[in-house]
Amino acid sequence: MPLCDVCGNDYDRTFEVVLSGRRHVFDSVECAIHALSPRCEHCRCKIMGHGIEYDGRSFCSVRCAEATGVVGAMHRVD
Ligand SMILES: [Zn+2]
Ligand SMILES: [Zn+2]
Repeated sequence: MPLCDVCGNDYDRTFEVVLSGRRHVFDSVECAIHALSPRCEHCRCKIMGHGIEYDGRSFCSVRCAEATGVVGAMHRVD
């Protein structure tokens, strides 16, 4: 039985996520978010929705991007 990458739970309904060629196994979406979602560089919160990426840096909102001196950050729409 595959084990969850995050909590080590042995669960028969785990699922796999392939990100940048690396395979991750999770038992829940919560664990997947914990492991895969980026953190806002400014307020350190987990970015679960459409965050902002600017110059390889991740932010939860335009406010946080601007607070760290980023000008012209745009919401990602993909
Ligand atoms: Zn887990
Ligand atoms: Zn933030």
